[in-house]
Amino acid sequence: MSISTNADSHAERLVVCRACDWVVTLPVRAPGQAARCPRCRHHLTEAAQRDAQRPLAWGIATLVTLGLVFCFSFLSFSAYGVGHVMAFGDTLHALIADDYAELAVILLAFTALFPGLYLAALIYLCSAVQLGRTLPGQVVIARALRPIEPWMMSDVFIVGVLVALIKIISLASIHIHTGFVAFCLFSVLMLRTVTLIDWTSLWDVLAPRGSLPTKIRPGATGRAQGLVACHGCDTPFMADRGPCCPRCGKRHVLHRVNRIQLTWALLITATLAYIPANVYPVLSTIQLGNAEPQTIAGGVMHLLHAGDWPIALVIFVASIVVPISKIVALAWLCLAARRPRARASLSRTRLFHITEKIGRWSMIDVFVVATLTTLVQAGSLMSIAPGPGAVAFALVVILTMIAAHTFDTRLLWSAHTHTFGVSTDPSPSEISHSA
Ligand SMILES: [Zn+2]
Ligand SMILES: [Zn+2]
Repeated sequence: MSISTNADSHAERLVVCRACDWVVTLPVRAPGQAARCPRCRHHLTEAAQRDAQRPLAWGIATLVTLGLVFCFSFLSFSAYGVGHVMAFGDTLHALIADDYAELAVILLAFTALFPGLYLAALIYLCSAVQLGRTLPGQVVIARALRPIEPWMMSDVFIVGVLVALIKIISLASIHIHTGFVAFCLFSVLMLRTVTLIDWTSLWDVLAPRGSLPTKIRPGATGRAQGLVACHGCDTPFMADRGPCCPRCGKRHVLHRVNRIQLTWALLITATLAYIPANVYPVLSTIQLGNAEPQTIAGGVMHLLHAGDWPIALVIFVASIVVPISKIVALAWLCLAARRPRARASLSRTRLFHITEKIGRWSMIDVFVVATLTTLVQAGSLMSIAPGPGAVAFALVVILTMIAAHTFDTRLLWSAHTHTFGVSTDPSPSEISHSA
């Protein structure tokens, strides 16, 4: 069944940009074309797809590949005549055995559990479209899927594994097994599958849009017209119709001013957690009976002294530059939201989107610790154990990601006029081509 159901009616193609609250008319997209907000450049839709077959096929292939990761050995190492073969699932046992179950949960959830659930749900939704039937819970499942996307970190994990291997390659002999190759393949397929989902068209098939009053026009803010953009299904609806989206049931508020206090609270907690993350060791290396604890900064210095400056740079950027920049940028945006300036709205929104996108890459160091802990297991001859700094650092990354999620970029645009005819902002949406 086709999912390209772009409605022809002008009213049925109205959308409200969730980044800047501008009402725009969604153009009829040809396959491969995406639409962006003319005011803030935020993506209003993904690239249009011809049908639900492609994401269904890619989703099944990706899920099968993820299953293969658990069927084969992942990596092996040998040092001082002692060897150890690691399976992907062993990370769970190794981290729990070291009393770091929280790291095991983070690793498994972000690299396998969330992607697996996402793929299974996607296959379910695409099957509903292909069969032309309404399946139980399809609206609730569709609404729950998109918030999971930033938390799927298979690509970050691969970089973490590579960094871990380079860190110990001079101390031990390392071999890559089929499980790791399958994981790399899974990560590539996962990235491709996500780009093949056209949520706008998928929602048009899964649940019909509610009608809007004819007085609603593009070229003004949704707030000025009593219109709300649903963050669950991206459909605009009248705020006076109640607190829940009539299409997907998600609760909403018009302008979440109070949430800025929540963003502040999360940022302050992340800043506090960043102190133990740097003071306590993130891992301890035991070599020939001698334990050597290592902090984040100590690890960077150790790599620099060993001449591995590219890896030192990766860890320095991911574990020090990115978290600090993210906390500072979000704090500044929270302050800026109180004093919105029309001229600065676009640059501030761009800063937010950059901050939001790079935050997940800070998880590299946590994945490095998890990989080394599981792989390097040769007792007192040579083994690596996680340190409390790793848990605190994972907490920093998670808290800053949630803080970014709670920040409402519409506050950055509140200095603009809300009414028709005065603003110089453009109203029709823009088309861009995507792969
Ligand atoms: Zn916008
Ligand atoms: Zn909705």
